[in-house]
Amino acid sequence: MLHHLQKKCFLAVLVSIFVIGQQAIAADGTAVLLSRLDLTKPGLEKVKAASGNSDAAAKELLNYYRTRTSVQHPVDRTQKKSSLGKYARAGDIETANNALKHIFVGQSAYPPHFCGEDINWGSRPVPDNEWVWQLNRMGFWTAMSKAYWHTGDEKYAEEWVFQLTDWVKKNPRDKEHAYAWRSIEAGIRGQQWTHLFQHFLDSPAFTPEFLVVFLNSCYDHADYLMTKYSARSNWGLMEAEGMAFIAIVFPEFKDAEKWKAEAIVRLNKEIDNQVYSDGHQRELTIGYHVGCIGWFSKTLDLAKMNGMEDAFPDSYRAKIEKMCEVPMKLGMPDGSNTQFGDSWKGRPGGNWGILKLWAERYNRPDFLYVATEGKQGEKPKETAFAYKESGLYSMRSGWDKNAVCLILKCGPDGGGHSQPDNGTFELYAGGRHLMPDSGCYIYSGDPENRRWFRQTKIHQTLTLDGKNTAYAPRHLYWQTDDNLDVLVVENAGYPDLTHRRAVFFVDKKYFVIVDEAIGKGKGVAAIHFQLAPGEAVLDADNQTARTAFKDGWNVLVQNVMPKDAKMEEEEGQISYVYTKKEPRPAFRFSVPKTDETGIRYITIVAPYTKTPPEIKVELLGNPVIGGNKLELKLSTDGKSRQIGYTL
Ligand code: CA
Repeated sequence: MLHHLQKKCFLAVLVSIFVIGQQAIAADGTAVLLSRLDLTKPGLEKVKAASGNSDAAAKELLNYYRTRTSVQHPVDRTQKKSSLGKYARAGDIETANNALKHIFVGQSAYPPHFCGEDINWGSRPVPDNEWVWQLNRMGFWTAMSKAYWHTGDEKYAEEWVFQLTDWVKKNPRDKEHAYAWRSIEAGIRGQQWTHLFQHFLDSPAFTPEFLVVFLNSCYDHADYLMTKYSARSNWGLMEAEGMAFIAIVFPEFKDAEKWKAEAIVRLNKEIDNQVYSDGHQRELTIGYHVGCIGWFSKTLDLAKMNGMEDAFPDSYRAKIEKMCEVPMKLGMPDGSNTQFGDSWKGRPGGNWGILKLWAERYNRPDFLYVATEGKQGEKPKETAFAYKESGLYSMRSGWDKNAVCLILKCGPDGGGHSQPDNGTFELYAGGRHLMPDSGCYIYSGDPENRRWFRQTKIHQTLTLDGKNTAYAPRHLYWQTDDNLDVLVVENAGYPDLTHRRAVFFVDKKYFVIVDEAIGKGKGVAAIHFQLAPGEAVLDADNQTARTAFKDGWNVLVQNVMPKDAKMEEEEGQISYVYTKKEPRPAFRFSVPKTDETGIRYITIVAPYTKTPPEIKVELLGNPVIGGNKLELKLSTDGKSRQIGYTL
């Protein structure tokens, strides 16, 4: 494969023939750029004086940026030298070296792909559009910038200058190049390019001509983002962020003030639009929630660095802090999380890094305790949390990573990343995700599987005839105590049927779940459960199921009533990684609902080690289904107690 740099030498003679034409293009670009800058700004005197001569003006402009001290950025150019040998991870170097050969990472679940000696920025190696969309976020440029500072090797800077110029030339902002100009990618680039600017500005490869191309494209990005505003979506934050970064890092643009003001208005508006007062982002998936913390924070941080913190009121900062509590309160005891909606459970300890950062930033000893697994800080006082507006709830036995933990979702419609799963829950115990959510598998390019993972009936909740439910949640009851946590929620998921679910966490050991199908709707009323991948024992005669891990923790799921419920196996799949899935045990308890009378299910969900516990549950009295009072008698280990709720 002939590298383009070599090719450049080969073609040097040929190119010289066209040099006059090239200069004309460069001159045009410089003239356009100069018309976009406010040359009366202090420091730009020499650029202004040279503005009659494009080459000289571009040179002066580059000098200006290399010596400018008025703008602060999270990437500190003075750290370049001291970063040698300690700036990139092996993975960054590999990604960067591949990128030198035009082998690029698009959607990272797929293998990197060679996009041509002459780069095709619209390459589609897989049916999934996410690949080409994410190719145009150029995450590999970030890897190249790290490799550059890590090694000091100019080849990374030279290639980046070549690739960015190539991309700009080949991707005008028109319909034909819509794959490159979704507003989310434009926003991501706007923010990220300022980081690349800081990394590469001092390289000899960063020429005056390149500066012109780069800044003109930054202008195009900000100008475009002014016309795009995805309110109530995480896209809206990336759009605003891209605009804010270009505006704050390049205040020399005449429109910079306008862009900055608009971006800040949007971020201030969106934090109320997108974050419920309980602190959870409205899409109700943990991955996007954590992403949004970053998107709300980065512009605030940049504004602060540049003495503009007044742009954001204290309430903005306070709301971000509240958002930061979520991975602690609704996270799994080992630092992973639920995978409701379009989210991924992550690896053990995955959330501790950010929680530790937030512990310092917000001076939160409780964050520090959880992030250091109890080594520092102060243990949080509570073990159960209700996000009543968002409809997310957690109950745990403690703060060690072997704790028992159940997280339930019954919230409003969170949009495209949310699934119709109200009532569902995940169960974790002893380091094991015993009853995890199925996840989402894929976003684009495989509609059949995308749909499969979004079905209500593959969640741990109630369905009528297996149909998908609507989002119609109602919070009814929440009571927490040392030896009993109680939650009651409802979802009016069908026009003529409401699902009420009560969860009792008894002695911080096991759960009793009471499900009521309330309303006139007829059909098969079923409650569904899914277990962790692996062996399981499904016993339809005794209406019990349990995981069969040889050591450590297992879970028992046992139907108590109705006595005539039918236990049936169902198709179970789980995806922990984008485009990857595996089978897992799944089953349901069902009864035909033939009249307008409601149906009540009682189920025991008990994590355990060694032998399954024997728990007896008895319904006391004859409470009306959907009524305001319920009492149960529990017997285990020779002891009995009564639990219940009164709405
Ligand atoms: Ca799900």
